[in-house]
Amino acid sequence: MKKLDCIIVGAGLSGLACARTLVDEAKSVLILESTDSPGGRVGTDTVKGFQIDRGFQVYLDSYAEGKKFLDYPSLNFGAFEPGALVAHRGRLLPISDPWRRPFAAIRSVLSGAVGVPDGLRIAYLRSQALAGVRNGKIDPIAISNDKEKTTREELISRGFSSDFIRLFFEPFFGGVFLERNLTTASQVFEFTFAMFSLGSACLPAGGMSAIPRQMVQKLPLGCLETLAPVVKINNMSAGGWEVVLEDGRRLWAESVVVSAVAAANTRLLPEGLLTAWTPPSWKGTCLVAFESDKKPPCGETLVVSSEPIAMGPIDNLSTPSAVASGYAPEGKNLIYVSVRGDWQGEAEQLPAAIRQQAKAWFGAEVEHWKHVVTVSVSHALPIETPASRRQRFPSNCLAPSLFLCGDHLTTSSINGALAAGRRAAEEVLRSA
Ligand SMILES: Cc1cc2nc3c(=O)[nH]c(=O)nc-3n(C[C@H](O)[C@H](O)[C@H](O)COP(=O)(O)OP(=O)(O)OC[C@H]3O[C@@H](n4cnc5c(N)ncnc54)[C@H](O)[C@@H]3O)c2cc1C
Repeated sequence: MKKLDCIIVGAGLSGLACARTLVDEAKSVLILESTDSPGGRVGTDTVKGFQIDRGFQVYLDSYAEGKKFLDYPSLNFGAFEPGALVAHRGRLLPISDPWRRPFAAIRSVLSGAVGVPDGLRIAYLRSQALAGVRNGKIDPIAISNDKEKTTREELISRGFSSDFIRLFFEPFFGGVFLERNLTTASQVFEFTFAMFSLGSACLPAGGMSAIPRQMVQKLPLGCLETLAPVVKINNMSAGGWEVVLEDGRRLWAESVVVSAVAAANTRLLPEGLLTAWTPPSWKGTCLVAFESDKKPPCGETLVVSSEPIAMGPIDNLSTPSAVASGYAPEGKNLIYVSVRGDWQGEAEQLPAAIRQQAKAWFGAEVEHWKHVVTVSVSHALPIETPASRRQRFPSNCLAPSLFLCGDHLTTSSINGALAAGRRAAEEVLRSA
Protein backbone atom coordinates (compact mmCIF):
# COMPACT_ATOMS: atom_id res chain seq x y z
CA MET A 1 0.00 0.00 0.00
CA LYS A 2 1.46 3.37 -1.07
CA LYS A 3 1.62 5.95 1.68
CA LEU A 4 0.27 9.33 0.56
CA ASP A 5 1.48 12.62 1.99
CA CYS A 6 -2.07 13.64 2.89
CA ILE A 7 -5.64 12.36 2.70
CA ILE A 8 -8.38 14.99 2.95
CA VAL A 9 -11.82 13.87 4.09
CA GLY A 10 -14.50 16.03 2.41
CA ALA A 11 -14.39 17.96 -0.88
CA GLY A 12 -16.10 21.11 0.36
CA LEU A 13 -14.35 24.39 -0.44
CA SER A 14 -12.14 23.99 2.62
CA GLY A 15 -10.97 20.52 1.54
CA LEU A 16 -10.33 21.79 -1.99
CA ALA A 17 -8.33 24.80 -0.72
CA CYS A 18 -6.31 22.47 1.50
CA ALA A 19 -5.55 20.20 -1.47
CA ARG A 20 -4.57 23.14 -3.68
CA THR A 21 -2.11 24.45 -1.09
CA LEU A 22 -0.50 21.03 -0.60
CA VAL A 23 -0.28 20.24 -4.32
CA ASP A 24 1.48 23.58 -4.84
CA GLU A 25 4.14 22.28 -2.43
CA ALA A 26 4.46 19.04 -4.45
CA LYS A 27 2.69 16.86 -1.88
CA SER A 28 0.74 13.75 -2.93
CA VAL A 29 -2.89 14.30 -1.99
CA LEU A 30 -6.16 12.37 -2.20
CA ILE A 31 -9.54 13.95 -1.38
CA LEU A 32 -12.27 11.50 -0.42
CA GLU A 33 -15.82 12.83 -0.80
CA SER A 34 -18.91 10.96 0.33
CA THR A 35 -21.35 12.47 -2.20
CA ASP A 36 -21.25 12.28 -5.99
CA SER A 37 -19.77 15.75 -6.56
CA PRO A 38 -17.28 18.18 -5.01
CA GLY A 39 -18.31 21.51 -3.46
CA GLY A 40 -20.13 20.44 -0.30
CA ARG A 41 -22.60 23.19 0.54
CA VAL A 42 -21.81 25.04 -2.68
CA GLY A 43 -23.79 23.11 -5.26
CA THR A 44 -26.06 23.65 -8.24
CA ASP A 45 -28.59 21.31 -9.86
CA THR A 46 -30.14 21.55 -13.31
CA VAL A 47 -33.93 21.49 -13.06
CA LYS A 48 -36.08 21.89 -16.21
CA GLY A 49 -33.14 23.62 -17.90
CA PHE A 50 -32.57 26.13 -15.04
CA GLN A 51 -29.53 26.24 -12.76
CA ILE A 52 -30.73 25.93 -9.18
CA ASP A 53 -28.21 26.66 -6.45
CA ARG A 54 -28.66 24.62 -3.27
CA GLY A 55 -29.87 27.65 -1.34
CA PHE A 56 -29.38 31.25 -2.44
CA GLN A 57 -25.80 32.31 -1.93
CA VAL A 58 -23.47 34.88 -3.41
CA TYR A 59 -19.73 35.17 -3.79
CA LEU A 60 -18.21 38.48 -2.62
CA ASP A 61 -15.38 39.33 -5.00
CA SER A 62 -13.59 41.23 -2.22
CA TYR A 63 -12.88 37.96 -0.35
CA ALA A 64 -9.08 37.89 0.15
CA GLU A 65 -8.96 34.08 0.26
CA GLY A 66 -10.99 33.80 -2.92
CA LYS A 67 -8.47 35.98 -4.74
CA LYS A 68 -5.78 33.43 -3.81
CA PHE A 69 -7.63 30.35 -5.01
CA LEU A 70 -9.97 31.39 -7.81
CA ASP A 71 -9.42 32.53 -11.37
CA TYR A 72 -12.03 35.30 -11.56
CA PRO A 73 -12.05 35.92 -15.33
CA SER A 74 -12.91 32.33 -16.19
CA LEU A 75 -15.73 32.24 -13.62
CA ASN A 76 -17.33 35.00 -15.68
CA PHE A 77 -18.96 36.64 -12.66
CA GLY A 78 -22.05 38.80 -12.95
CA ALA A 79 -22.58 41.32 -10.16
CA PHE A 80 -25.66 42.44 -8.26
CA GLU A 81 -26.26 46.19 -8.09
CA PRO A 82 -24.81 47.57 -4.82
CA GLY A 83 -27.46 48.11 -2.13
CA ALA A 84 -30.96 46.67 -2.18
CA LEU A 85 -34.61 47.38 -2.73
CA VAL A 86 -36.38 47.09 0.60
CA ALA A 87 -40.00 45.97 0.50
CA HIS A 88 -41.94 47.98 3.03
CA ARG A 89 -45.75 48.20 3.25
CA GLY A 90 -46.15 46.95 -0.31
CA ARG A 91 -43.60 49.43 -1.77
CA LEU A 92 -39.98 48.96 -2.83
CA LEU A 93 -37.61 51.54 -1.28
CA PRO A 94 -34.10 51.85 -2.72
CA ILE A 95 -31.12 51.71 -0.35
CA SER A 96 -27.93 52.46 -2.24
CA ASP A 97 -24.24 52.58 -1.58
CA PRO A 98 -23.43 56.32 -1.72
CA TRP A 99 -19.76 55.63 -2.60
CA ARG A 100 -20.61 53.67 -5.72
CA ARG A 101 -24.06 54.99 -6.58
CA PRO A 102 -24.12 58.59 -5.27
CA PHE A 103 -27.22 59.63 -7.20
CA ALA A 104 -29.14 56.54 -6.20
CA ALA A 105 -28.13 57.22 -2.60
CA ILE A 106 -29.73 60.64 -2.79
CA ARG A 107 -32.87 58.82 -3.96
CA SER A 108 -32.62 56.64 -0.83
CA VAL A 109 -32.71 59.74 1.36
CA LEU A 110 -35.48 61.37 -0.66
CA SER A 111 -37.60 58.21 -0.54
CA GLY A 112 -37.37 58.30 3.26
CA ALA A 113 -35.64 54.90 3.41
CA VAL A 114 -32.53 56.38 5.06
CA GLY A 115 -32.70 59.33 7.44
CA VAL A 116 -29.69 61.67 7.53
CA PRO A 117 -28.50 60.56 11.03
CA ASP A 118 -28.62 56.87 10.05
CA GLY A 119 -26.88 57.72 6.76
CA LEU A 120 -24.04 59.33 8.72
CA ARG A 121 -23.84 56.36 11.06
CA ILE A 122 -23.58 54.04 8.04
CA ALA A 123 -20.72 56.19 6.70
CA TYR A 124 -18.89 55.94 10.04
CA LEU A 125 -19.51 52.19 10.32
CA ARG A 126 -18.20 51.76 6.77
CA SER A 127 -15.00 53.68 7.38
CA GLN A 128 -14.35 51.85 10.67
CA ALA A 129 -15.12 48.44 9.21
CA LEU A 130 -12.80 49.01 6.24
CA ALA A 131 -10.00 50.29 8.48
CA GLY A 132 -10.56 47.38 10.91
CA VAL A 133 -10.28 44.77 8.16
CA ARG A 134 -7.17 46.46 6.72
CA ASN A 135 -5.36 46.68 10.06
CA GLY A 136 -6.48 43.21 11.15
CA LYS A 137 -8.58 44.40 14.12
CA ILE A 138 -11.70 42.94 12.52
CA ASP A 139 -10.94 39.31 11.84
CA PRO A 140 -13.83 36.89 12.28
CA ILE A 141 -11.39 34.01 11.96
CA ALA A 142 -9.57 34.99 15.16
CA ILE A 143 -10.76 33.47 18.42
CA SER A 144 -13.36 35.80 19.90
CA ASN A 145 -13.24 37.12 23.44
CA ASP A 146 -16.03 37.21 26.01
CA LYS A 147 -16.71 40.90 25.29
CA GLU A 148 -17.87 40.21 21.75
CA LYS A 149 -21.32 41.67 21.05
CA THR A 150 -24.09 40.43 18.82
CA THR A 151 -24.78 42.36 15.62
CA ARG A 152 -27.91 43.89 17.13
CA GLU A 153 -26.04 45.04 20.26
CA GLU A 154 -23.36 46.57 18.06
CA LEU A 155 -25.90 48.44 15.92
CA ILE A 156 -27.72 49.75 18.99
CA SER A 157 -24.47 50.85 20.60
CA ARG A 158 -23.65 52.74 17.38
CA GLY A 159 -26.92 54.65 17.75
CA PHE A 160 -28.81 53.32 14.72
CA SER A 161 -32.51 53.99 15.00
CA SER A 162 -34.71 50.97 15.65
CA ASP A 163 -36.70 51.85 12.51
CA PHE A 164 -33.60 51.66 10.34
CA ILE A 165 -32.45 48.44 11.99
CA ARG A 166 -35.88 46.95 11.19
CA LEU A 167 -35.99 48.41 7.70
CA PHE A 168 -32.51 47.55 6.48
CA PHE A 169 -30.24 45.53 8.79
CA GLU A 170 -32.80 42.88 9.78
CA PRO A 171 -33.85 41.92 6.26
CA PHE A 172 -30.46 42.42 4.55
CA PHE A 173 -28.12 40.85 7.10
CA GLY A 174 -30.88 38.51 8.29
CA GLY A 175 -30.75 37.11 4.75
CA VAL A 176 -26.96 36.85 4.83
CA PHE A 177 -26.81 35.24 8.29
CA LEU A 178 -30.05 33.27 7.87
CA GLU A 179 -31.38 34.73 11.11
CA ARG A 180 -33.26 38.01 11.60
CA ASN A 181 -32.69 38.41 15.32
CA LEU A 182 -29.15 39.58 14.47
CA THR A 183 -27.62 37.41 17.17
CA THR A 184 -24.63 36.69 14.91
CA ALA A 185 -21.37 37.98 16.39
CA SER A 186 -20.48 41.59 15.57
CA GLN A 187 -17.02 40.64 14.19
CA VAL A 188 -18.74 38.53 11.56
CA PHE A 189 -21.13 41.38 10.79
CA GLU A 190 -18.44 44.06 10.53
CA PHE A 191 -16.27 41.85 8.33
CA THR A 192 -19.20 41.01 6.04
CA PHE A 193 -20.23 44.68 5.91
CA ALA A 194 -16.68 45.60 4.85
CA MET A 195 -16.68 42.88 2.16
CA PHE A 196 -19.96 44.20 0.73
CA SER A 197 -18.51 47.75 0.80
CA LEU A 198 -15.23 46.77 -0.86
CA GLY A 199 -16.61 44.69 -3.69
CA SER A 200 -19.64 43.23 -5.36
CA ALA A 201 -21.97 40.37 -4.56
CA CYS A 202 -21.51 38.07 -7.55
CA LEU A 203 -22.74 34.89 -9.16
CA PRO A 204 -20.53 32.87 -11.50
CA ALA A 205 -21.89 31.99 -14.93
CA GLY A 206 -23.95 28.81 -14.78
CA GLY A 207 -24.36 28.62 -11.01
CA MET A 208 -22.38 28.58 -7.78
CA SER A 209 -21.04 25.06 -8.43
CA ALA A 210 -18.71 26.63 -11.01
CA ILE A 211 -16.53 27.67 -8.04
CA PRO A 212 -15.70 24.17 -6.72
CA ARG A 213 -15.63 22.83 -10.29
CA GLN A 214 -12.89 25.28 -11.18
CA MET A 215 -10.92 24.34 -8.06
CA VAL A 216 -11.09 20.65 -8.99
CA GLN A 217 -10.07 21.33 -12.60
CA LYS A 218 -6.88 22.97 -11.33
CA LEU A 219 -5.90 19.92 -9.28
CA PRO A 220 -3.93 17.03 -10.81
CA LEU A 221 -6.07 14.21 -12.27
CA GLY A 222 -6.91 11.51 -9.75
CA CYS A 223 -6.72 13.83 -6.74
CA LEU A 224 -10.43 13.48 -5.98
CA GLU A 225 -12.57 10.43 -5.41
CA THR A 226 -16.32 10.99 -5.09
CA LEU A 227 -18.84 8.49 -3.69
CA ALA A 228 -16.10 7.54 -1.23
CA PRO A 229 -17.46 7.98 2.31
CA VAL A 230 -14.86 7.61 5.04
CA VAL A 231 -16.07 5.65 8.06
CA LYS A 232 -13.02 5.49 10.33
CA ILE A 233 -9.59 7.03 10.86
CA ASN A 234 -7.04 4.99 12.84
CA ASN A 235 -3.65 5.87 14.24
CA MET A 236 -0.93 3.59 12.75
CA SER A 237 1.77 2.30 15.04
CA ALA A 238 4.22 2.56 12.11
CA GLY A 239 3.43 6.31 11.84
CA GLY A 240 0.76 8.21 9.98
CA TRP A 241 -2.96 7.45 9.75
CA GLU A 242 -5.14 4.76 8.23
CA VAL A 243 -8.34 5.89 6.53
CA VAL A 244 -11.09 3.29 6.19
CA LEU A 245 -13.71 3.74 3.48
CA GLU A 246 -17.29 2.48 3.60
CA ASP A 247 -16.47 0.00 0.80
CA GLY A 248 -13.82 -1.59 3.05
CA ARG A 249 -10.70 -0.13 1.44
CA ARG A 250 -7.95 1.03 3.76
CA LEU A 251 -5.64 3.86 2.70
CA TRP A 252 -2.57 5.20 4.44
CA ALA A 253 -1.21 8.74 4.71
CA GLU A 254 1.41 10.65 6.61
CA SER A 255 -1.21 13.30 7.49
CA VAL A 256 -4.98 13.45 7.44
CA VAL A 257 -7.16 16.56 7.24
CA VAL A 258 -10.82 16.06 8.16
CA SER A 259 -13.65 18.42 7.33
CA ALA A 260 -15.32 19.43 10.59
CA VAL A 261 -18.63 18.41 9.03
CA ALA A 262 -17.30 14.85 8.77
CA ALA A 263 -15.69 15.00 12.21
CA ALA A 264 -19.06 15.83 13.76
CA ASN A 265 -19.74 12.11 13.39
CA THR A 266 -18.10 11.02 16.63
CA ARG A 267 -17.40 7.47 15.39
CA LEU A 268 -15.06 8.71 12.66
CA LEU A 269 -12.06 9.67 14.78
CA PRO A 270 -10.16 7.72 17.43
CA GLU A 271 -11.85 8.07 20.81
CA GLY A 272 -11.07 11.04 23.02
CA LEU A 273 -9.80 13.41 20.33
CA LEU A 274 -12.81 15.67 20.12
CA THR A 275 -14.20 15.47 23.63
CA ALA A 276 -13.67 19.22 24.16
CA TRP A 277 -15.64 20.15 21.05
CA THR A 278 -19.39 20.38 20.59
CA PRO A 279 -20.20 20.84 16.91
CA PRO A 280 -22.31 23.99 16.48
CA SER A 281 -26.01 23.79 15.71
CA TRP A 282 -27.12 24.65 12.20
CA LYS A 283 -29.26 27.32 10.60
CA GLY A 284 -31.40 26.22 7.67
CA THR A 285 -33.04 27.92 4.72
CA CYS A 286 -35.42 27.25 1.86
CA LEU A 287 -35.25 28.47 -1.73
CA VAL A 288 -38.25 28.60 -4.07
CA ALA A 289 -37.43 29.03 -7.77
CA PHE A 290 -39.81 30.41 -10.40
CA GLU A 291 -39.55 30.92 -14.12
CA SER A 292 -41.00 33.86 -15.98
CA ASP A 293 -41.06 35.09 -19.59
CA LYS A 294 -40.71 38.68 -18.42
CA LYS A 295 -37.72 40.00 -16.46
CA PRO A 296 -38.92 41.23 -13.04
CA PRO A 297 -38.51 45.02 -12.64
CA CYS A 298 -35.91 44.59 -9.86
CA GLY A 299 -33.43 43.39 -12.52
CA GLU A 300 -29.93 43.02 -11.02
CA THR A 301 -30.95 44.43 -7.61
CA LEU A 302 -31.63 42.22 -4.60
CA VAL A 303 -35.02 42.74 -2.98
CA VAL A 304 -35.20 42.19 0.78
CA SER A 305 -38.43 42.28 2.72
CA SER A 306 -38.93 44.24 5.91
CA GLU A 307 -42.64 43.41 5.88
CA PRO A 308 -44.18 41.54 8.81
CA ILE A 309 -44.45 37.78 8.34
CA ALA A 310 -48.24 38.12 8.08
CA MET A 311 -47.68 39.86 4.71
CA GLY A 312 -45.91 36.82 3.28
CA PRO A 313 -42.96 34.43 3.46
CA ILE A 314 -40.38 36.29 1.35
CA ASP A 315 -37.03 36.91 2.99
CA ASN A 316 -35.28 38.04 -0.18
CA LEU A 317 -35.87 37.83 -3.90
CA SER A 318 -33.41 37.94 -6.78
CA THR A 319 -33.21 37.27 -10.50
CA PRO A 320 -29.98 35.27 -10.98
CA SER A 321 -30.56 35.06 -14.74
CA ALA A 322 -30.37 38.90 -14.89
CA VAL A 323 -27.10 38.89 -12.94
CA ALA A 324 -25.04 36.09 -14.50
CA SER A 325 -25.24 34.10 -17.72
CA GLY A 326 -26.27 30.47 -17.95
CA TYR A 327 -28.89 30.38 -15.19
CA ALA A 328 -31.93 30.14 -17.50
CA PRO A 329 -32.63 28.88 -21.01
CA GLU A 330 -32.69 31.51 -23.78
CA GLY A 331 -35.68 33.85 -23.47
CA LYS A 332 -36.53 32.78 -19.91
CA ASN A 333 -35.91 34.39 -16.53
CA LEU A 334 -35.15 32.61 -13.27
CA ILE A 335 -36.33 34.07 -9.96
CA TYR A 336 -35.08 32.91 -6.57
CA VAL A 337 -36.98 33.53 -3.37
CA SER A 338 -35.44 32.73 0.02
CA VAL A 339 -38.11 31.96 2.58
CA ARG A 340 -38.13 33.43 6.07
CA GLY A 341 -37.32 31.06 8.91
CA ASP A 342 -40.39 32.20 10.86
CA TRP A 343 -42.87 31.28 8.12
CA GLN A 344 -45.22 28.67 9.54
CA GLY A 345 -47.15 27.56 6.44
CA GLU A 346 -46.91 24.28 4.52
CA ALA A 347 -44.41 23.81 1.67
CA GLU A 348 -47.23 23.40 -0.90
CA GLN A 349 -48.63 26.82 0.02
CA LEU A 350 -45.32 28.60 -0.59
CA PRO A 351 -45.51 29.38 -4.34
CA ALA A 352 -48.97 30.95 -4.01
CA ALA A 353 -48.06 32.88 -0.83
CA ILE A 354 -44.91 34.22 -2.53
CA ARG A 355 -46.81 35.29 -5.67
CA GLN A 356 -49.36 37.10 -3.54
CA GLN A 357 -46.71 39.07 -1.63
CA ALA A 358 -44.62 39.87 -4.73
CA LYS A 359 -47.70 41.01 -6.68
CA ALA A 360 -47.90 44.10 -4.46
CA TRP A 361 -44.32 44.99 -5.49
CA PHE A 362 -44.26 44.05 -9.19
CA GLY A 363 -47.91 43.96 -10.31
CA ALA A 364 -50.11 41.35 -11.93
CA GLU A 365 -47.28 39.92 -14.07
CA VAL A 366 -46.30 37.86 -11.00
CA GLU A 367 -49.38 35.68 -11.49
CA HIS A 368 -47.60 34.19 -14.52
CA TRP A 369 -44.53 33.10 -12.54
CA LYS A 370 -44.30 29.31 -12.81
CA HIS A 371 -42.96 27.32 -9.88
CA VAL A 372 -39.79 25.41 -10.89
CA VAL A 373 -38.68 23.77 -7.65
CA THR A 374 -38.41 24.22 -3.88
CA VAL A 375 -35.08 23.39 -2.24
CA SER A 376 -34.78 23.03 1.54
CA VAL A 377 -31.34 23.16 3.13
CA SER A 378 -31.42 22.13 6.78
CA HIS A 379 -27.64 22.40 7.35
CA ALA A 380 -26.71 25.70 5.72
CA LEU A 381 -24.65 27.74 8.18
CA PRO A 382 -23.30 26.91 11.63
CA ILE A 383 -24.71 29.24 14.30
CA GLU A 384 -22.26 32.09 14.93
CA THR A 385 -23.42 33.82 18.09
CA PRO A 386 -20.61 35.15 20.33
CA ALA A 387 -21.21 32.21 22.68
CA SER A 388 -21.03 29.56 19.94
CA ARG A 389 -17.92 31.18 18.47
CA ARG A 390 -16.21 30.90 21.84
CA GLN A 391 -16.88 27.13 21.75
CA ARG A 392 -15.05 26.70 18.45
CA PHE A 393 -12.26 24.14 18.53
CA PRO A 394 -9.31 26.31 19.62
CA SER A 395 -6.81 24.71 17.25
CA ASN A 396 -7.14 22.76 14.03
CA CYS A 397 -4.60 20.19 15.24
CA LEU A 398 -6.28 17.14 16.85
CA ALA A 399 -3.19 14.95 17.18
CA PRO A 400 0.24 14.84 15.53
CA SER A 401 -0.43 15.05 11.75
CA LEU A 402 -4.23 14.92 12.15
CA PHE A 403 -6.02 18.20 11.42
CA LEU A 404 -9.47 19.69 11.07
CA CYS A 405 -10.64 22.09 8.38
CA GLY A 406 -13.93 23.76 7.46
CA ASP A 407 -15.98 26.84 8.17
CA HIS A 408 -16.77 25.56 11.69
CA LEU A 409 -13.24 26.60 12.63
CA THR A 410 -13.24 30.06 11.06
CA THR A 411 -16.43 31.71 9.90
CA SER A 412 -19.35 30.38 7.91
CA SER A 413 -18.65 31.80 4.51
CA ILE A 414 -16.80 30.88 1.36
CA ASN A 415 -13.93 33.06 2.53
CA GLY A 416 -13.93 31.31 5.92
CA ALA A 417 -13.96 27.83 4.36
CA LEU A 418 -11.07 28.65 2.00
CA ALA A 419 -9.08 30.15 4.89
CA ALA A 420 -9.69 27.06 7.02
CA GLY A 421 -8.45 24.78 4.24
CA ARG A 422 -5.34 26.86 3.60
CA ARG A 423 -4.52 26.98 7.30
CA ALA A 424 -4.92 23.21 7.71
CA ALA A 425 -2.54 22.69 4.77
CA GLU A 426 0.00 25.02 6.33
CA GLU A 427 -0.15 22.93 9.52
CA VAL A 428 0.40 19.77 7.46
CA LEU A 429 3.46 21.34 5.84
CA ARG A 430 4.84 22.50 9.18
CA SER A 431 4.37 19.05 10.70
CA ALA A 432 6.09 17.20 7.81
C1 LIG B 1 -27.85 28.12 1.66
C2 LIG B 1 -26.48 28.64 1.93
C3 LIG B 1 -26.21 29.97 1.76
C4 LIG B 1 -24.92 30.46 1.95
N1 LIG B 1 -24.65 31.77 1.64
C5 LIG B 1 -23.37 32.16 1.55
C6 LIG B 1 -23.04 33.40 0.95
O1 LIG B 1 -23.90 34.10 0.44
N2 LIG B 1 -21.73 33.77 0.92
C7 LIG B 1 -20.75 33.00 1.47
O2 LIG B 1 -19.58 33.39 1.43
N3 LIG B 1 -21.04 31.81 2.04
C8 LIG B 1 -22.31 31.36 2.06
N4 LIG B 1 -22.61 30.13 2.56
C9 LIG B 1 -21.58 29.39 3.33
C10 LIG B 1 -20.58 28.59 2.49
O3 LIG B 1 -21.20 27.95 1.42
C11 LIG B 1 -19.95 27.55 3.44
O4 LIG B 1 -19.37 28.23 4.54
C12 LIG B 1 -18.84 26.71 2.79
O5 LIG B 1 -19.27 26.20 1.57
C13 LIG B 1 -18.45 25.59 3.75
O6 LIG B 1 -17.44 24.80 3.17
P1 LIG B 1 -16.75 23.65 4.03
O7 LIG B 1 -15.73 23.01 3.17
O8 LIG B 1 -16.32 24.17 5.33
O9 LIG B 1 -17.92 22.60 4.38
P2 LIG B 1 -18.85 21.73 3.43
O10 LIG B 1 -19.16 22.47 2.18
O11 LIG B 1 -20.01 21.33 4.27
O12 LIG B 1 -17.96 20.48 3.04
C14 LIG B 1 -17.87 19.31 3.82
C15 LIG B 1 -17.72 18.13 2.85
O13 LIG B 1 -17.39 16.95 3.59
C16 LIG B 1 -18.11 15.87 2.99
N5 LIG B 1 -18.17 14.80 3.99
C17 LIG B 1 -18.84 14.79 5.17
N6 LIG B 1 -18.63 13.62 5.81
C18 LIG B 1 -17.81 12.87 5.03
C19 LIG B 1 -17.25 11.57 5.15
N7 LIG B 1 -17.48 10.79 6.22
N8 LIG B 1 -16.46 11.11 4.14
C20 LIG B 1 -16.20 11.89 3.05
N9 LIG B 1 -16.72 13.12 2.88
C21 LIG B 1 -17.51 13.61 3.86
C22 LIG B 1 -19.47 16.50 2.66
O14 LIG B 1 -20.20 15.73 1.73
C23 LIG B 1 -19.03 17.85 2.10
O15 LIG B 1 -18.77 17.77 0.71
C24 LIG B 1 -23.89 29.60 2.39
C25 LIG B 1 -24.16 28.25 2.60
C26 LIG B 1 -25.44 27.76 2.34
C27 LIG B 1 -25.69 26.28 2.44
